[in-house]
Amino acid sequence: MADACVIGVDLGGTKLLAGTVDAELRVHHRAYRLARRDAVLETIVAAVEEAREATDREVRAVGVGVPCLVEPGTGVAMACNHLALVDVPLRDLLAERLDLPVVVDNDATAALVAESRWGAARQARHVVMLTIGTGIGGGLLIDGRVLRGVSGAAGEVGHIVVDENGPPCPGNCPSHGCLEAFVSGPALALEGLRRAQADPDSGLGRALAAGRGVTGPLVTELAHDGDPAACAAIATLGTHLGVGMTNLVNVFNPEVVVVGGGLVAAGDLLLDPARAVLAERCLVPARDQVQVVAARFGEESGMLGAAGLALDVVGDLESIG
Ligand SMILES: [Zn+2]
Repeated sequence: MADACVIGVDLGGTKLLAGTVDAELRVHHRAYRLARRDAVLETIVAAVEEAREATDREVRAVGVGVPCLVEPGTGVAMACNHLALVDVPLRDLLAERLDLPVVVDNDATAALVAESRWGAARQARHVVMLTIGTGIGGGLLIDGRVLRGVSGAAGEVGHIVVDENGPPCPGNCPSHGCLEAFVSGPALALEGLRRAQADPDSGLGRALAAGRGVTGPLVTELAHDGDPAACAAIATLGTHLGVGMTNLVNVFNPEVVVVGGGLVAAGDLLLDPARAVLAERCLVPARDQVQVVAARFGEESGMLGAAGLALDVVGDLESIG
């Protein structure tokens, strides 16, 4: 498929990215949309059409990563914590609207595909992937294969409990004190606000006084500028993250834990505190065999992984003839 390409779509809890990607993983065009809770299908179609019109290459297939429980093999979105997608045959609906082969999978599984094939966990056969944005998505590669569980529901690493008496989990989860309740974009905004109020002379405090909304990206920006209050807010989340990772590393004994999603823009400000907790609390030898790394493709892992799944579909079609 020298001059052909595929389109990878990453649908998050709040935003969508569609990219036109060739077989060498070059991205030719990016289309951005806000994810609208009740118009998911239309939003995906509009972004794919924009990406399709922006390229003069032939688009052969579309891969879509969604923040949902996806039935393996059918592309039916069965349940979703953040969007109105329940029992929606997304693959078939999109294939009909777009008149192209479509593959649908969980967004964090897509991110895991990108990072384990081409990115931060290349060559590794035992990988834990966390994508941290609106919530936490997860993917597990066990002995080279994606762990899916009985119904595709495995890998929900955001819902391991790190404090049984902790705050209610956001979204539809009935539990308390899940990792996702402590580590996410909204959780960083909340922790940033708390630090801004406690320390009005800090960069965060001055931003709040100036009327700027304390958001995850603002906290990250000020932390990179060296503001101690912003750094401390991120370190608090990193410590919680390390507790969650300790559970995962003790259970799965991975070679690599990859952290992607919007929050990884904080880089080592987030990951170093997590590594410190792992070093202190994790069992040996798993502790000494694991690396904690940022996703190579940053926020684009999910889109590129979805494109990778679409490339698989094209390969299957070509092998059939
Ligand atoms: Zn939960």
